[in-house]
Amino acid sequence: MIPDTSPIAAIATAPGRGGIGVVRASGKSLAPLMTALFPDTTLKPRHATYLPFTQADGTVIDQGIALWFKGPHSYTGEDVLELQGHGGPIVLQMLLARVLEAGAESGVRLAEPGEFTRRAYLNDKLDLAQAEAVADLIDASTEAAAKSASQSLSGAFSRAIHVLVEKVINLRMLVEATLDFPEEEIDFLEKSNARGQLAGIVDALDRVFAQASQGALLREGLNVVLVGQPNVGKSSLLNALAGTDVAIVTPIAGTTRDKVTETIQVEGIPLNIIDTAGIRALTDEVDMVERIGIERTWGEVGKADVILHLLDASLGPTRADEGIVAAFPEGVPVLRIWNKIDLSGHKPAVDAAEDATHIYLSAHDKAGIDLLRAELLRIAGWQQTGESVFLARERHLIALRAAHQHLDMAGAHAAQDDQSLDLFAEELRLAQAQLSSITGEFSPDDLLGVIFSRFCIGK
Ligand code: GDP
Repeated sequence: MIPDTSPIAAIATAPGRGGIGVVRASGKSLAPLMTALFPDTTLKPRHATYLPFTQADGTVIDQGIALWFKGPHSYTGEDVLELQGHGGPIVLQMLLARVLEAGAESGVRLAEPGEFTRRAYLNDKLDLAQAEAVADLIDASTEAAAKSASQSLSGAFSRAIHVLVEKVINLRMLVEATLDFPEEEIDFLEKSNARGQLAGIVDALDRVFAQASQGALLREGLNVVLVGQPNVGKSSLLNALAGTDVAIVTPIAGTTRDKVTETIQVEGIPLNIIDTAGIRALTDEVDMVERIGIERTWGEVGKADVILHLLDASLGPTRADEGIVAAFPEGVPVLRIWNKIDLSGHKPAVDAAEDATHIYLSAHDKAGIDLLRAELLRIAGWQQTGESVFLARERHLIALRAAHQHLDMAGAHAAQDDQSLDLFAEELRLAQAQLSSITGEFSPDDLLGVIFSRFCIGK
């Protein structure tokens, strides 16, 4: 597919009211657009010019700053024009309409979602992992997620992938050179220490995988279902767990969760809490609408990573609790939380019993909360490594896993008596292709379409 390089424009700032708002345009050459917009002013690259933004008939829409980044020294690698006006939805709409009108002759059209960043990628300003990090930084719901997205955006993740790719290429070159001299095949693996090199690559890959999977956790968070009878202390527990670190929940389309979910954070990991308040057993009294609601909530429960079943330690389990437990989906770890130990006299404790892990705590006194936090982090697979964490996506983890499998296969071929060097070489090639798909060197167009279509317009 030949990339569409026609000039594009969009509002780049979030919808709503703000001090300033930006309309951005990008194209190979924006000279015709700039002349049409500002017939009396010649913009200088990278200079802020304060001027009126006017309609074709000269009426003023707004006063603001025009900034021209001459390609290739711009975000997209093309000419970029930013018009910074006041951040009101109507004034920005008018400004955008004016840009489209003034640019009609030179073919300016409205940008598609993520199209600015897509162009930055196509013009080698960013690789694919960095482009994804732009979206992840914008959508980050905790400070830790934002920090690691910015790591990935700066290229730390991509560099780690490049180092792996280079190691694979070096080994491939060795093997492929040998393939041309079949008589030397036999002792090639010995002489070149190919097995040792392969093991080194697998080790390095494991380290990158560990960092990336921690990053994926920061991005995705852990889905936690909170169940329990009224008054056992569900809200109190949420507050105690969240402490003062309540996650920033932004009402941006695509990041807003279902109404029943609330996000808090523990050590920077978003915990998406699905509150099952209002769930009751499906009896004849339950009407159709409520029945659908209940079924939907149980559907959510099915996607949970962990269930917190809260009980009052001073009262013990009730009949209704037995009903709730019976409805739990199989295979999801359950933490049975005995709250209000300040009343019951239990000590804060964790007890890994066969049916579930039991935790004794008091939401009121904040006793034993650290035990619950530690248990949640353990279930999430969080390790405090001290190493930097790259914000990664499931797509990256899948590619890393696939690369690992190909390296394992290569190792298996090398271990066989009739070492088949061409199969060894082929597995290395496949591992390299998987790694390169992360940074986008070998990414099919449809993958790009999927990734960028999830951006908002103007990014
Ligand atoms: P929910 O209905 O399950 O959300 O329960 P709440 O969090 O609203 O708590 C119900 C009542 O129990 C409130 O009066 C809380 O102050 C009280 N409560 C919650 N946790 C504790 C606890 O650990 N100890 C004591 N003594 N009271 C608690």
